[in-house]
Amino acid sequence: LHARSALATESIFARMSGLAVRHGAINLGQGFPSGAPPAFLLDAAREALGRGDQYTPPPGLPLLREALGRDLNVAPEQVVVTCGATEAMAVLAQALYGPGDEVLMLEPVFDIYWPQARLAGAQPVTVPMRLEGGAWAADLDRMAQAITPRTRALLINSPYNPTGSVFSRVELERIVALAREHDLWIISDEVYDELYYGDAPVPLRTLAPERTFTVGSAGKRLEATGWRVGWIVTPPGHAAQVAGLHQWTTFCAPGPLQAAVALALPMARQSGFYSQLRDGYRARMQRLAQGLRALGLEVMEPQGTYFLSAIGVGLDADRLVEEGRVAVIPGAAFYVQHAAPPGLLRFAFCKPEAEIEEALQRLGQYL
Ligand code: GLN
Repeated sequence: LHARSALATESIFARMSGLAVRHGAINLGQGFPSGAPPAFLLDAAREALGRGDQYTPPPGLPLLREALGRDLNVAPEQVVVTCGATEAMAVLAQALYGPGDEVLMLEPVFDIYWPQARLAGAQPVTVPMRLEGGAWAADLDRMAQAITPRTRALLINSPYNPTGSVFSRVELERIVALAREHDLWIISDEVYDELYYGDAPVPLRTLAPERTFTVGSAGKRLEATGWRVGWIVTPPGHAAQVAGLHQWTTFCAPGPLQAAVALALPMARQSGFYSQLRDGYRARMQRLAQGLRALGLEVMEPQGTYFLSAIGVGLDADRLVEEGRVAVIPGAAFYVQHAAPPGLLRFAFCKPEAEIEEALQRLGQYL
């Protein structure tokens, strides 16, 4: 095999989910909801199956591009539908950089960003986030210093996995100023755009429409991560090339599921589904945070996503899943170029309350 297959290591999420099954653990590791997707989504899929089961045009089913255009307040011509946000990110890596280029990203870093940049032949460069007084902060001065003549793109994710940070308008404006000064592309992974617990996140494309590629996900928004329907909002004039690369990758996302998402998006908006989702997750996040604090962990309360990071001194994720039967993601899995803060763990709280309670109980016994 080619040397690049050295990148084909097992993902930490697959590994911890496997260990969770093996040890009968409560799985607060991989971020997927345990419950069923909303009934309106499943009904939409039943309606769509058998009515459009062949290829769609590579840029996406026109109905879905139109629905996304309305939902995201962009022109449907800017939208390219992909097989999940993961393919969206892979296609953008191919479209935007190659050998000799550097891509700036923050650390802790979501696990796919790094290998995808390497597969495109580029060099990822990470800027560590600061952890001060129980809160995460992006170090934008350090980001500015990390820009070199080879830097081609800034990769931002807000709300941010794994820290749960939501970057403020002021921070995003600073990022945009850097991108304009050095003529960089911005890749903005916004798959958790509807999952926030304070102020709504600012879409980066509204600040820099000319250079921002936004990535979104029906799986995250509508609680169906296995559906693999994601999207890219391209800056005006760039959709055809991005769709062309997606065409050589998977050709198109699943047709009936694209149709179902097109029907479900306006329903989710009009029925208040997203705010119900936020309310449910906020309550679980607060319960988990309070329970972990009571057990002596330092909790960094998230502003968005369904992830919470915490420091548990001396807690080892591999031993915890085996001996305590609770699966979490070790913080070190999100560090490639810098040292992880000792004892850093990520907990997913997109799980039923009973599972969160059981996990807290097991943790209490284990500690
Ligand atoms: N986004 C999810 C997480 O962070 C799952 C990612 C994956 O397994 N590909 O846990």
